[in-house]
Amino acid sequence: MLGRMEGDYDVVVVGGGPAGLAAAIGARDAGATRVLVVDREDEAGGILLQCIHAGFGLHYFKEELTGPEYAERFVARALDRDIDVVGSAYVSGAGLDSDGTRRVRVMREGHGIRTVRSRAMVLAMGCRERTRGALHIPGTRPAGVLTAGLAQRFVNVMGLLPGRRVAILGSGDIGLIMARRLTLEGCEVVGVFELMPFSNGLTRNVVQCLGDFGIPLHLSTTVVEIHGQDRVDKITVAPVGADLAPDLSRCREVACDTLLLSIGLVPENELSQGLGVELDVVTQGPRVSSTLETSLPGVFACGNVLHVHDLCDYVTEEALLAGRFAGELAGGVKRPRDNIRVVPGDNVRYCVPHTLAPGREHTIYLRSERPLRPAAIRVGDLVRRKLGFVTPAEMITFRIKPDVLDRFHGEALRIDLLGEPAGPHLAGAEP
Ligand SMILES: Cc1cc2nc3c(=O)[nH]c(=O)nc-3n(C[C@H](O)[C@H](O)[C@H](O)COP(=O)(O)OP(=O)(O)OC[C@H]3O[C@@H](n4cnc5c(N)ncnc54)[C@H](O)[C@@H]3O)c2cc1C
Repeated sequence: MLGRMEGDYDVVVVGGGPAGLAAAIGARDAGATRVLVVDREDEAGGILLQCIHAGFGLHYFKEELTGPEYAERFVARALDRDIDVVGSAYVSGAGLDSDGTRRVRVMREGHGIRTVRSRAMVLAMGCRERTRGALHIPGTRPAGVLTAGLAQRFVNVMGLLPGRRVAILGSGDIGLIMARRLTLEGCEVVGVFELMPFSNGLTRNVVQCLGDFGIPLHLSTTVVEIHGQDRVDKITVAPVGADLAPDLSRCREVACDTLLLSIGLVPENELSQGLGVELDVVTQGPRVSSTLETSLPGVFACGNVLHVHDLCDYVTEEALLAGRFAGELAGGVKRPRDNIRVVPGDNVRYCVPHTLAPGREHTIYLRSERPLRPAAIRVGDLVRRKLGFVTPAEMITFRIKPDVLDRFHGEALRIDLLGEPAGPHLAGAEP
């Protein structure tokens, strides 16, 4: 990958995934002349480089692209704008100088360690997968237990098969996509086991990756033991009750040589914590204002480091905005502080951003606590709109117009999701 990194910058972006690339483009288009993107991998593009399936770009480009194609378009746009994109460069620390200048410490292959200063900084480090240790699954510790994303890298990037007879714990999107991918590679996927009574992946992925291939989805079921000495040879699964506790009297064994884990993603915020950025305990990402600025002035956040997204197109939309505001701040634009707090109400797990300002249009991203059908969103006493079906796996995007927000005179705007609890209406789902 190209790799020029000289002097100081208007905006430095940490992470060259879809969020970092879009943020850099947003900053440049807002007038920042010197913009740098730093990524620890050889190539920019982030996790998309291993997502060789189609389905990216339907919202943003109105066409269906693979992950690498989607990433390639943004790398090209960044380079067209003379943005410096540097690979094999790890940001090992960040801070603020006493005059407020932001700085990052970059360790770069063949170049040693350098401190780069900037007027604004965008955090776009993405997320990582939860592993077996997060769930404390009992049993032996054989080979063959790995996260779905690692299996995706093995298959799509390295050309290696992780196993032949595969069980998957968790119905997150990566697990669903890997169920299909491994089936196409000739593996037998014996089933997807999901703790919750609903899938944690997009409905389209349940239908296209499981239903179309006859792969069973066992809801309200979990893995209670892993067996095998050198290699996994079976797992024990058990149904769970409403309290999510396994019913060990109804265990059964499932023969397999591989267990993939698709049990959630965690925003990668060690750098943010080192900086002193305030985090939201629910999203595990930074708390941000309507300009996507964190609790530290001049430090912005976007993409999966801010909250886990299910569609890359929304990452792009959010990151262009974060970059734009970072670019404007670097150019000296000052904005008044937000004066409206957004409060998650009934059935709402979280909302981003955390505060709003009157006089501008805002996009609010939120997730429901549970599936609801029919559902409606209520924003204070300003708006009430029908949504149809909502589920925690599918992020809700809600735009609020300035003239609507201007009618609000309180300090805390509460957002509720209303509706009837919905059962699992999904193709391929088995009780
Ligand atoms: C395994 C996996 C598979 C996925 N599959 C799909 C899918 O099929 N479809 C879909 O729509 N979404 C998928 N997603 C969601 C996807 O992550 C997001 O849509 C999108 O890639 C998020 O973009 P991002 O830029 O925030 O994060 P990422 O794409 O993860 O990019 C973050 C970048 O930051 C870099 N970085 C992190 N820390 C540092 C540091 N300290 N110094 C330098 N660089 C750093 C990383 O190397 C990485 O390149 C998947 C996610 C994962 C984890």
